[in-house]
Amino acid sequence: MGLIDDRFDKNVFVTSLDFVFNWARRSSLWWLQFGLACCAIEMISASMSRWDLAERFGMLYRASPRQADLMIVAGTVTRKMGPIVRTLYDQMPEPKWVLSMGSCANVGGPYDTYAVVQGVDQIVPVDIYVPGCPPTPEALYYGILELQNRVIKYETMAKKQGVAAAEAQRVADRSESMAAQHG
Ligand code: SF4
Repeated sequence: MGLIDDRFDKNVFVTSLDFVFNWARRSSLWWLQFGLACCAIEMISASMSRWDLAERFGMLYRASPRQADLMIVAGTVTRKMGPIVRTLYDQMPEPKWVLSMGSCANVGGPYDTYAVVQGVDQIVPVDIYVPGCPPTPEALYYGILELQNRVIKYETMAKKQGVAAAEAQRVADRSESMAAQHG
């Protein structure tokens, strides 16, 4: 037995399948590659070598909504673009998440006009709002970390209290965040 004596404590750990799935979902959010205005430049820079968003969080941007589980709405959502954003969201598989990045996506930003949607939450359900005009890459980081916490929270709830309870909590959290945005 010499070679494996006292090796198990250091090299083997036991966990549940649920924990592994939660960890994997949280740690591999693949986001849909699109941007709507200046906020997208910050999102792009966050994913480049200086901030390395993609590498650090196991994230990848995907060109197809069918391969993405995270939508980052970065920029002004015009009324013309709104239906397209909704179509992209509908084409993403479940479970899926939405992060609204910047004042324009959150509440219309400086454009209180007939041509701009006053918050992308009128079109798709939003989980996380990142404030700013534009938000810095660090702010986007913070939003992603918050989203990861939410993923774990709902997955854990679904396991312990059932999927319906987790979904109800998610809807409640979204409503609370939405109310905070729109005052
Ligand atoms: S929030 Fe500011 S930086 Fe972002 S899209 Fe709107 S105007 Fe541009």
